[in-house]
Order: sequence, then C-alpha cells, then structure tokens
Amino acid sequence: MRAVVVGGGVVGLASAYYLAERGVDVTVLEKDSIGGGSTGRANGGIRAQFTSGVSVALSKRSIEVWERFEEAFGTDIDYRRTGYLFLARTDETADRFRENVAVQNDLGVGSEYLPPEEAGERCPGLYTDRYVGATYAPTDGFADPHLALQGFSRAATAAGVTVETGVEVTDVRTDGGAVVGVETTEGSREADYVVNTAGPWAARVGEMAGLDLPVSPRRRQLLVTAPGSPVPADAPMTVDVDDGVHFRPERDGRAVAGGHFTDRDPEQDPDRYRTSNDLDWAIETLEHAAGVADYFGPDSEIVRGWAGLYAVTPDHHPIVEETVPGFVNAVGFSGHGFMQSPATGQVVAELVVDGEASTVDVSALTADRFERGETLHEGTVID
Ligand SMILES: Cc1cc2nc3c(=O)[nH]c(=O)nc-3n(C[C@H](O)[C@H](O)[C@H](O)COP(=O)(O)OP(=O)(O)OC[C@H]3O[C@@H](n4cnc5c(N)ncnc54)[C@H](O)[C@@H]3O)c2cc1C
Repeated sequence: MRAVVVGGGVVGLASAYYLAERGVDVTVLEKDSIGGGSTGRANGGIRAQFTSGVSVALSKRSIEVWERFEEAFGTDIDYRRTGYLFLARTDETADRFRENVAVQNDLGVGSEYLPPEEAGERCPGLYTDRYVGATYAPTDGFADPHLALQGFSRAATAAGVTVETGVEVTDVRTDGGAVVGVETTEGSREADYVVNTAGPWAARVGEMAGLDLPVSPRRRQLLVTAPGSPVPADAPMTVDVDDGVHFRPERDGRAVAGGHFTDRDPEQDPDRYRTSNDLDWAIETLEHAAGVADYFGPDSEIVRGWAGLYAVTPDHHPIVEETVPGFVNAVGFSGHGFMQSPATGQVVAELVVDGEASTVDVSALTADRFERGETLHEGTVID
C-alpha cells in the first residue's frame, strides 16, 4: 500500500512514521522545508488539562509517547514536566475551574483545584492576592518541537519513509471517486492514500480533493524575555485565563510569553503573513505578564519573538478522518497539534491500515460535524 503525506510538520512526520511502522510505503511531500510551517513556531506545550473527552484522550495517549520519546526515538526533546497552572481572577472562572477538574478527574486526568496560596507554591513569583483559584496538573509540561520533529523525522526515514522537500502538491488525482495519487511541482505520484497534514494550508489541500474544510489560519505571537528576575526552571506553564497572558520558563531564567489580547483575529494567508512580532503586542504582553508574577518588570528585555499560525476550526477541535475514499485529514489542531501529534500519527496509521481508529475514538472529529450542528465544546482554550 502506498501513501503520500502532504506536509512535513510534526503531524505529517508522526503520521509517516506510524504508517511505515505498519508496513505502508510512505512518501512525505513538503513544499518548503521540514518544520517550516506551524511546528517550527510552536511553544511546545503538552497538556491533558482539557475538558472534551477526545482532546483528553489524544493528549493522554500522546503523553505516553512523549514520556518515553528519548528511549524510543533516541532523541532528547528537552521534555520538562513542570505542569500547567491555570489561574482565575474571578469567582465565575474559579467555578468553571472546579467543574473542569471534576470532568478531567472523571476522564483520568490528575488535575486539582488549588487555592491561590498553593498556586503560589507552584509559581513562587505569583501575585497570589490577584487570584481566586487555580487548576494544576503535574503531568502537563512542554518539550522542544524542533527536536521532536527531528526525532520523528529520523525514525520515519529509518523506517523507510521517503521525505521530499521543495515539492508542492498541486492537485489530488481521483478515479471513480477514490484517490489514486497527487500532482506536484515535480510531476505526479501514485498513491492509494493521501494524508492531508498541511497545517494552515489544510483547506487548500482539502480543496484539491473537492472538500470545503473549515480550517482557518490565525496569527499568534510568542516572545522570549530575559525578565528582571529569573523565572525558575521548574515553574509551570502559567496561564492567566481571565487576562489571556501565558508564560513558561525557557533556559537560564528566561521565559517564553504570549497571549492574544484583542477580538481582532483576521484570517491569514499562510504564504503571506507577518512572521515577526508586532512591537506594540510585545510591550503589551510584557505588561500583562508583569501583572501576574514579580519576575517581569521594567527591567525585562525582549530577546526575540516571532509569529506563527494556528489552524483553527469553529470548535477548536481537529478533523481526523478518512473524509473521502483514500483521502485522510489530520488538520485543524489550533494550539494543540504539537502535543497531540503522536496519538494523531497512530490514529492516521490505523485509519489507513485497519479502516478504523482503535487507539483513540476519533468518531467525533468528522469534517461534517459543523454542518450537522454537532460541534464539540472545549472549556480550556488557550488563545
Ligand atoms: C505561536 C504558536 C504557538 C503554539 N504553541 C503550541 C503549543 O504550545 N502546543 C501545541 O501542541 N501546539 C502549539 N501550536 C500549534 C502547533 O504548532 C500546530 O498545531 C502543529 O505544529 C501543527 O503541525 P502540522 O504538522 O499539522 O502543521 P505544520 O507544522 O504547519 O506543517 C504543515 C506543512 O505542510 C506544508 N505544506 C502545505 N501545503 C503543502 C502542499 N500543497 N504541498 C506540500 N507541502 C505543503 C507546509 O509547508 C508545512 O511545512 C502553536 C502554534 C503557534 C503558531
């Protein structure tokens, strides 16, 4: 069986690896370079603190892989399990947190509701008097997306996957409604399956198979700051839910900070968007961070920053299914595609080889759920 994977990001390479492991002859076609899309711009956050069952399941299964990634793939991905700390400034948000924790505990996630003083023990610089409550899960954390992509890429190649960079897929060929291959800038390729892992370009690749996928590229920014006082290396990924700012420790006391503070969120052209920070956003982000913890203040320096694209669906959940015969989508991961890539890769391989997913029940992640009005709900979206 032959499969062409369209897109050399982490979802594409994980899918390619697990497909090859199941005996499929796989070619990854990447129009640019490996990791040149969203993967190379991600924050690396890994969490199971979601409220939707399918998101929790994808993350939990993925965390099992992240935990033993170095052993299995021979690559140290700088995986740090310092937890995610969600912070509430209002009673309303704190009430929601209590509900979230109950749901998560039912789904097997070891999150807990914390009073502000205990949140301060997790994140020592926290202005605890500004918060009503928090949630925390010690098994959440973050890793380096570049290293993880390299790990999957090396393992995929070793398993027999061919990776072609600088090759753009321009059309999907079908015969009698079933996929038979793709056209590319370097000629045509035959395939029994085409897997769409094109990230922010996913709707364009879907169109080639006659699909109208509701996956919209939205710009998000991050910056690395050298704060006035160092952020401890074991501080959690800290998310002020009512304010919108988040930060996590980087190396040497530095932190990666981000947030989306406006309702303006225009759809972007993935080939033509601004990949550097907006200066006013960077200043605003540091000001917001300074309102959360005492690490950040007037002495904070901006070391570097960048912008990338979330591939957003209307319900912030991905589309993972064989949508037309031979055409599998693994798209629309918003801010979760890195963390959920291992389980997604496994599911993609099952969809292709077995005709159905068994690792995680992805039956809710169909493309037509939006038309049917069966959208999913997630209570912990990080914008
Ligand atoms: C600022 C920011 C922070 C984020 N933080 C996190 C986080 O903390 N945790 C997390 O889990 N996720 C995070 N994400 C989301 C994460 O980056 C994505 O969900 C994930 O990288 C998606 O991977 P992918 O392989 O699907 O897509 P991509 O990495 O975008 O890869 C798609 C690839 O397809 C290629 N391509 C497109 N069209 C074609 C074509 N026609 N032919 C050939 N190749 C094509 C592109 O060049 C690209 O390389 C963040 C994203 C951003 C922007």
